[in-house]
Amino acid sequence: MSSKMLQFVDTERDMPKKRESQERKDDFLEIYGDYIDVKAEEQASRCSQCGVPFCQNHCPLQNNIPDWLKLTAEGRVEEAYRVSAATNNMPEICGRICPQDRLCEGSCVIEQSGHGTVTIGSVERYLTDTAWKKGWVEPIAPRRERAGSVGIIGAGPAGLAAAEELRLQGWQVTVYDRHDRAGGLLIYGIPNFKLDKEIVQRRIKRLEDGGIEFVLNCDVGADITFAKLREKHQAVLIATGVYKARDLDCPGSGADGVTAALPFLIDSNRRGLGDTVKSETAEGKDVVVIGGGDTAMDCVRTAVRQGAKSVTCLYRRDHANMPGSRRETANAQEEGVTFEWLAAPKSIHDDGGKASAVRADKMRLGKKEASGRQSVEAIPDGDFDVKADLVIKALGFSPENMKDLSPELTVTRWGTLRVNPLTFETNLPGVYAAGDIARGASLVVWAIREGRDAAAHMHGYLRALEKADQKVAAE
Ligand code: SF4
Ligand code: SF4
Repeated sequence: MSSKMLQFVDTERDMPKKRESQERKDDFLEIYGDYIDVKAEEQASRCSQCGVPFCQNHCPLQNNIPDWLKLTAEGRVEEAYRVSAATNNMPEICGRICPQDRLCEGSCVIEQSGHGTVTIGSVERYLTDTAWKKGWVEPIAPRRERAGSVGIIGAGPAGLAAAEELRLQGWQVTVYDRHDRAGGLLIYGIPNFKLDKEIVQRRIKRLEDGGIEFVLNCDVGADITFAKLREKHQAVLIATGVYKARDLDCPGSGADGVTAALPFLIDSNRRGLGDTVKSETAEGKDVVVIGGGDTAMDCVRTAVRQGAKSVTCLYRRDHANMPGSRRETANAQEEGVTFEWLAAPKSIHDDGGKASAVRADKMRLGKKEASGRQSVEAIPDGDFDVKADLVIKALGFSPENMKDLSPELTVTRWGTLRVNPLTFETNLPGVYAAGDIARGASLVVWAIREGRDAAAHMHGYLRALEKADQKVAAE
């Protein structure tokens, strides 16, 4: 093994510099700086090159982490980038937004032994950011063009990953999206302070330059029928994500000033992209965000940056049971967000129809449920009020009604599309589904993984059609 490795004993874990909370809460710029070359080498050298790399096993993309860490530690950055890019269509995006503490870094052996994880995500980001700067990110250039065409519904992470993989094989790829920009949640959902939009836009430009056609402002099912799409393309991938907000079921939830998380985040991202947006911001308001996932963290931190008077997050379980990334919660706390753990909304008070406060029940944890999580119950007479003229519901997402797209599609009892788990094919031949619409609301990195896997099966399907056509032509 390279003598450069195993440095975790003498070298402390060191993340890229994080901007001070007082400075960063007034703007939407990313909060982490970049590693300089020598720091990336140093931090990569902390890896102990485990025989069984748990980091890799817990990365949804099964990234070859030990190899690219070793190459980085040896200063072979371009090779490290190529290994990293071999399994991931957007490593610099995953390096920024994956909840590493729940995935690769949380499983790192030296984290488990108390030395502090290898900073895998930051090294991953460094490698691909460096590759873009140095011109190592190559254009998409299929070795041969094929006549077969693919229609992809949804330009989010699953759709984009599949589009790239299929285009690399030479298929003619068209991506349809109802929004006016490609990127899905990457462009409109995730705030700039976690993922600068230019990073997403340069990826999309590369796909366009590689011959992928984007048809935007196109709502499949309304602007073009699903049947037409199937006539036009030999294979179709549904990668629409899940966008329907789970609603708040309590008195007053229809008051003015109560909004869903996604419109709030979309409007904020649109402002950042220079669009004119009519909705009000959180400026000068007392904001309450209900929920404990990563979307809730995005909302509280966006409200802080918009100049809210106060920002409170209500979550019905305790900190330990919160689904959101610990790192994001810590960032929010640093930025001045108040967390009310074990607090569930009971009603929303209004003043002339406008939200004025959230009444919350104080909760306590009960027995473990079948899911393994502890149940929660309200403490009698424990309710309390939190002032709020903007209430943001971040309670998760469910699928839209896929029967509206095509009544022939089979859905699960959760409303997601039923797919063959090995091939990602739906009940309709040549129609595949990947990402949240098949899996349920999940992480970007899982959407990328499924987009890649579905693309591999679609390639096989299209090749079979191509061979059949060639055989007929030869007869
Ligand atoms: Fe970790 Fe995500 Fe990168 Fe995998 S893709 S190595 S989970 S940051
Ligand atoms: Fe290196 Fe940690 Fe992965 Fe082991 S688990 S190979 S120490 S990054």
